[in-house]
Amino acid sequence: MNPDSRLPQLGQWEGLEDVRRLQEKQLPQTVSWAANSPFYRSRLDPANLPTSISDLASLPLTTKQDLRENYPWGMLAVPKERLATYHESSGTAGQPTPSYYTPEDWVDLAERFARKWIGLSERDVFLVRTPYALMLTGHLAHAAGRLRGATVVPGDNRSLAMPYARVVRVLHDLGVTLTWAVATEYLLWAAAAAAAGHRPGVDFPALRALFTGGEPLTAVRRHRISRIWGVPVIEEYGSTETGSLAGECPDGRLHLWADRALFEVYDPKTGTVKSEGDGQLVVTPLFREAMPLLRYNLEDDVSVSYRDCACGWDLPTVRVFGRAAFGYRVGSTTIAQHQLEELVFVLPDSYGVLFWRARVEPDRLRIEIEVAEEHQQAACAELAASVRSVIGVDAEVVGLPPGSLVPATVLTSMPDVVKPRSLFGPDEDWDKALLYY
Ligand code: AMP
Ligand code: MG
Ligand code: ZN
Repeated sequence: MNPDSRLPQLGQWEGLEDVRRLQEKQLPQTVSWAANSPFYRSRLDPANLPTSISDLASLPLTTKQDLRENYPWGMLAVPKERLATYHESSGTAGQPTPSYYTPEDWVDLAERFARKWIGLSERDVFLVRTPYALMLTGHLAHAAGRLRGATVVPGDNRSLAMPYARVVRVLHDLGVTLTWAVATEYLLWAAAAAAAGHRPGVDFPALRALFTGGEPLTAVRRHRISRIWGVPVIEEYGSTETGSLAGECPDGRLHLWADRALFEVYDPKTGTVKSEGDGQLVVTPLFREAMPLLRYNLEDDVSVSYRDCACGWDLPTVRVFGRAAFGYRVGSTTIAQHQLEELVFVLPDSYGVLFWRARVEPDRLRIEIEVAEEHQQAACAELAASVRSVIGVDAEVVGLPPGSLVPATVLTSMPDVVKPRSLFGPDEDWDKALLYY
């Protein structure tokens, strides 16, 4: 795959015990790197550093709060001169959660992301459509594409320079073969493609697969996206603080990259930590120098299993619920987003329902879906009935004309993103002075 890499590669181990040996071998290095950061220096006894996985169990978990409290450089374990990039995760409120990487850390990051069963090579045109500002995700996919020699198209998804109409133009005209975006983007692209007169499953023949991650995705929504575009949707799990932690195998399971990180599962109810089962995912990246993390609790609800998978990768599998378990109460029933998502996306494809929203009211649920006039009645009636029978609450389902939740202009407009300007002609609008958007 990457013949020059000194890091473990898929296929280099035989069975899970072999993976465990790789972990044990690397761990002392990982711990000694960690001992260089102010944060872990205060937590570790230099005369008695943990050197095995069983020793590690005596260390407290590292929390997101620890990262925030040590913003910006409290976790730094190398001279700042060695850093390649600085990032913050997508958290909205409060103190930022920092993370940083050396060029060597970046090899590990890019290789993990590049582990795609469908392949990623110099023959690919790879559209990266996740944020580049502060977060890791855009840079991560970009670096993986570069590593494998693909032609990377840096699309971002928080840039005024890249509206949906331009995404569709690029996808179509450049013969994009692979893409990286949150799943919701793929529905927006489908609507934008249709608005531009293209049929998603037909008019993009170069497309091979859609890579996705970053948000929970139910199987029904994923299959719907796959049918719309006529290609596989390949999932990935990771975070800005850790990079990719798991990727999908040809058998459709998410495998943890256990050759590159140690994984544990924390049960917040009992305070116990196990190697598998249900709980919050705890990760110790093994090959990180700039910002080592020992037993970092991602606070994502997961289920980890060591059962065999037909793919032969010999890596544990994970199911990620994220914070999806979070729900709102209607009467005595708690409703989570993924339950509604499943019911919306089992509606017949022919109804064309892609966009929805729901709000909890004291004794019922109000759901709005975008749906064409001719399917409105059937779609609303079927969804209300399934919410009643599957979840057990009353729902008022309202069918809105397409364009109500996602305005047509969002899908079609091509705003002029100009350079800053101060001098204007007599008939020009000089209110745009200096405001270059
Ligand atoms: P960030 O740290 O802002 O990059 O976001 C990372 C978070 O996104 C993770 O901690 C998860 O909560 C969520 N996430 C990422 N990938 C997935 C996935 N495949 N399924 C569910 N949630 C995910
Ligand atoms: Mg995060
Ligand atoms: Zn597998």
